[in-house]
Amino acid sequence: MKKSAIAAVALLALLFVVDSSPVSAQRLYWTTSGMFGPFDIKGLIPTYPDSRQITIPISMWVLDHPKGLVVIDTGNNAAVSDGNCKSHWVAGLCDFLKPNQKRDDVIDRQLQKLGYSVDKVKVVITSHSHLDHIGNIEMFPKAIHVIQKKELYQAWWPEKFQRGGAHVIKDYDDARDFNYLELDGDYDLFGDGTVVVLSTPGHTLGNQSVKVKLPQTGTVIISQDAIWMKENLEGHPAGLNYSVLDYSKSLERLKMIRDLENGQLFMPHDEGQYKEKGGKWYR
Ligand SMILES: [Zn+2]
Repeated sequence: MKKSAIAAVALLALLFVVDSSPVSAQRLYWTTSGMFGPFDIKGLIPTYPDSRQITIPISMWVLDHPKGLVVIDTGNNAAVSDGNCKSHWVAGLCDFLKPNQKRDDVIDRQLQKLGYSVDKVKVVITSHSHLDHIGNIEMFPKAIHVIQKKELYQAWWPEKFQRGGAHVIKDYDDARDFNYLELDGDYDLFGDGTVVVLSTPGHTLGNQSVKVKLPQTGTVIISQDAIWMKENLEGHPAGLNYSVLDYSKSLERLKMIRDLENGQLFMPHDEGQYKEKGGKWYR
């Protein structure tokens, strides 16, 4: 074979390799439904030794997968935008959390910014039924909604000690007849191991997390409220739990999965981690 022919074959082979890699593979975007704060970290983690003002993200995720577009959590309800919190949430939570959400931060606009529309979303995974995670579920009437069956019980009839306003029933009362894939444990979403829903109860009765395998980044664990922030990893439990025992087991479980798979743990309300790693695609 002539040298030029060899070069051409080599070039073709290279193009094939480049072409066949991440084009059809999944990619993941980390965004936020505005911010909460500033407030004292002890308001969320009472056992934390030092007072410190924090301003935290309300993490949502967009996963573009060859088998369909996925949204993980839908943030604060759009009605909470632009200083209108008290029209939608109880006043005490507005005063404590201080949501700073612009209308453009809401999931429908976030999808638009990334080049998608709400109609194209095939799956909505809701980690749990608190107001900063389930807020805009009603924007997705055509999607399949993936949630733990127990969390649906929780959403509709929280225990008395949970009725401080974190469950806003009007966020989901018109979503009652949506298509729910009601889970009882872990679930391999597309049947290929790339997106696995992990049951991580404790923060709420049916909290769940998501493990995503990406072609270049590797394993990413989206803890959602199984682990709020790095201080929880350092041994200071969250101050809001359905069951502290289950919370501790779920936290340990996610740490071990991270270590076994050499993965990264992305935490939904970690100020520093979002500053460093939020607002971008992971491939
Ligand atoms: Zn949360």
